[in-house]
Amino acid sequence: MTVTYEDALATYEPVLGLEVHVELGTATKMFCGCATALGAGPNTQTCPVCLGLPGALPVVNETGVESAVKIGLALNCEIAEWCRFARKNYFYPDMPKNFQTSQYDEPIAYDGYLDVEVDGEVFRVEIERAHMEEDTGKSTHVGGATGRIHGASHSLLDYNRAGIPLIEIVTKPITGAGDRAPDVAKAYVAELRELIKALGVSEARMEQGQLRCDVNLSLMPAGATVFGTRSETKNVNSLRSVERAVRSEVVRHAEVLDGGGRIVQETRHFHEDTGTTTSGRTKEEAEDYRYFPEPDLVPVAPAREWVEKLRAGLPELPRLRRNRLREEWGVSAHDMQSILNAGAIGAIVATIDAGADAAAARKWWMGELARRANEDGVELAALAITPEQVARVAALVAEGKLNDKLARQVITGVLDGEGAPDEVVDKRGLAIVKDEGALGAAVDEAIAANPAVADKIRGGKVQAAGALVGAVMKATRGQADAARARELIMEKLGVAD
Ligand code: ADP
Ligand code: MG
Ligand code: ZN
Repeated sequence: MTVTYEDALATYEPVLGLEVHVELGTATKMFCGCATALGAGPNTQTCPVCLGLPGALPVVNETGVESAVKIGLALNCEIAEWCRFARKNYFYPDMPKNFQTSQYDEPIAYDGYLDVEVDGEVFRVEIERAHMEEDTGKSTHVGGATGRIHGASHSLLDYNRAGIPLIEIVTKPITGAGDRAPDVAKAYVAELRELIKALGVSEARMEQGQLRCDVNLSLMPAGATVFGTRSETKNVNSLRSVERAVRSEVVRHAEVLDGGGRIVQETRHFHEDTGTTTSGRTKEEAEDYRYFPEPDLVPVAPAREWVEKLRAGLPELPRLRRNRLREEWGVSAHDMQSILNAGAIGAIVATIDAGADAAAARKWWMGELARRANEDGVELAALAITPEQVARVAALVAEGKLNDKLARQVITGVLDGEGAPDEVVDKRGLAIVKDEGALGAAVDEAIAANPAVADKIRGGKVQAAGALVGAVMKATRGQADAARARELIMEKLGVAD
């Protein structure tokens, strides 16, 4: 039985639950002093603690706790006066201790909320808890076709990631989103990612697995109060996939329910290629983790003065900052969204701070530089140009020393390593031709070479002047002041403009 998304939402109300894991950017692991840097050789960043060797004793990373408290505060949570770590026991080769150090019924932060914006309206997502835990190692299955364990001849284990601090943030069931459920889910993960970045606790790059999301979804008949059975789609790794996973699960649930079937509580896997999910493990097979308090770690009791100090040091919330900048810059919500999507807010702000006006800063980062970043397949921040240099280019344009076309060439020169903007201007000889003599000669030549056009202009067709301005620009390799060239053309042809 096939059901459309619209049909599904006409009959049912979706309930969402989002579990987000954030890998913190601490220099060392959560319970030992091993480095966390990416890219090191396999198993070079390990020690008896994170390898789970007998007798090794963990010690809590203070920055890890501080980051957890900051996240909790930014999410408007209560911060526990006292909480413990717990052992989550299960066996898997990428988890060398045979338990994950996590938190269970005593999370460090609980009962908060995050306001997100969907179509210009604020939607409040309530937060159940944020707790501290550690990441697992990484398995690589070799020999199979798809990199999966099935069909592999052997597996390789890298424990460098084992013990890297994670914060898991769990929402309360999200109701009332209706047909906007996919957008709410996406907006929530996007807002959370911005928040984490603003707090400086993680770069939160989804494509690198620094932020991953499990999407829980159930449907109940419209107007009902008892939730339906949920499915849990694991490790959804992009904003677009979060949206698609919700959408496809809404449809799948509706098809099962309309067909008289029953949803089984299970984990599912999302497939980028088809945009659909397939079954993972059912709740019946789910493990009993036998949680118990971690006996090797002392409880965590964040002092209230410390918590208040951290609260006072929180940055402006991204959503409020965006709205403030949007007003200051005078841009539409849609344009602001494009700026956000391009990851350009920070660069634009820095360029304005370096003296450029807002419109120019926006124009260069969202135009020429976004195009180049896209072409090179890198983020804006990775381009070899600083906001100060962009501000300098904008200043040269404002002073009339460069026009936009020349400015683009200067930017290209800077990006290609030819030096700072002024050096590129000198080396490439890119200043606007101000020399009236040279410009006048170019105008004379353009008129002589295009007699028919000149006649048209003399006859009153002033629009035709564009062709002559073009000829002048070409002759001066784009370095003429186009407005001045036009004036001269009119003067020489004896036409009032
Ligand atoms: P588990 O460890 O089994 O995944 P959690 O409580 O950690 O359970 O997370 C479950 C998530 O799903 C939470 O975000 C919760 O709010 C949400 N949730 C719980 N029940 C439902 C339901 N019936 N439909 C949709 N989401 C639900
Ligand atoms: Mg879960
Ligand atoms: Zn270690």
